[in-house]
Amino acid sequence: MDETTGPDPTADLSAREPILHLREFVDSAETFDAHTAPDFWEVGASGAAYDRETVRAQVLHRLDTQEQDDLVSQGWRTSDLRVRRLAGEVYLCTYTLDQAGRVSRRASIWERTDSGWRIVYHQGTLAPDAADAHPEADAEAAGPRLEPLSEDWQRALVVVAHPDDIEYGTAAAVARWTQAGKTVTYLLATRGEAGIDGMHPEDAASVRAQEERDGAAEVGVDVVEFLEHTDGALEYGLALRRDIAREVRRRRPDVVIGLTHRERFAGGGTNQADHRAVGLALIDAARDAGNRWIFTDLLDEGLEPWSGVRLAALGASPQATHAVDVSDTLEAAVASLEAHAQYLAGLDDDYPTPRELLTGILREGAAATGWRGCEYAVTFEVYDL
Ligand SMILES: [Zn+2]
Repeated sequence: MDETTGPDPTADLSAREPILHLREFVDSAETFDAHTAPDFWEVGASGAAYDRETVRAQVLHRLDTQEQDDLVSQGWRTSDLRVRRLAGEVYLCTYTLDQAGRVSRRASIWERTDSGWRIVYHQGTLAPDAADAHPEADAEAAGPRLEPLSEDWQRALVVVAHPDDIEYGTAAAVARWTQAGKTVTYLLATRGEAGIDGMHPEDAASVRAQEERDGAAEVGVDVVEFLEHTDGALEYGLALRRDIAREVRRRRPDVVIGLTHRERFAGGGTNQADHRAVGLALIDAARDAGNRWIFTDLLDEGLEPWSGVRLAALGASPQATHAVDVSDTLEAAVASLEAHAQYLAGLDDDYPTPRELLTGILREGAAATGWRGCEYAVTFEVYDL
């Protein structure tokens, strides 16, 4: 989603908790050292404090005896995970851990370093009455917090900056809509040519455009168009508004879908300049498209005004108002992100897999809704037009 400042920390940390029990991250003394700060310590659910050396010895013992795998396979489950930025690249991550009925509240402090995520501190507190303490019980008692996004429309136009922006969650909603018979088309402002460090932009442009078409096909989208703007140098302004308005007039959508223009993502990660430019331009262009006297050159191209766009829904916003239940379309969303194979291959080795990322993002979305029985959700901030 964000080629220059790293992904939203929520997905990263959701994949990593509880870090010292996940063999995919910690399976040796070396990986323990890589994932823990030199002065790491923790307070267990019993109240006892443990220094790093003690925890290290416990973890290596569990790995030796296979106890690690046995514990996790008993059905451990994390839920209600939330991430808050404390300062710089230091984050507080809180969640509930259900260890086959033994429920505890967990808090970790993490720092993002040049060599990856390191845990600085961890604490667990037992929740004595597991039934009452269950976070979903709290969520249900509190009632729904987000409105369902209306689906009484037929045509959607999705507009984003880069190949892969749609695939970090929104594609799960797209799959639901196309399965219901709606028409969804994609417009990308760039081909994402600056997104692969080890590949020249000329090559990356064609690779990433094809990966976007492949990812779109996984969620039932046949039409993928690209504008000729420059990756990393997108500017909010009339040129971008005109180009988006042209596509709105051509496709005549009932709704437009995009990515948040706000400075932060839900979860606290810093948004990227291109995303901010396109998100804001999309809201404006959806309205521009209906006015005959704005961008009169579009009339010369034979494109009549279209004022049928009812709303703009922008994903990953820290101020979400609506959501879409995507509990049935996780697999299609994973396939759509996996289509970005060469882009993903260019990322760090410890970057989470598409399944880990999407499971984390969409579970967080579901937690934000407060909806009973919703396992995965995509959240949106909706603007009525
Ligand atoms: Zn992006």
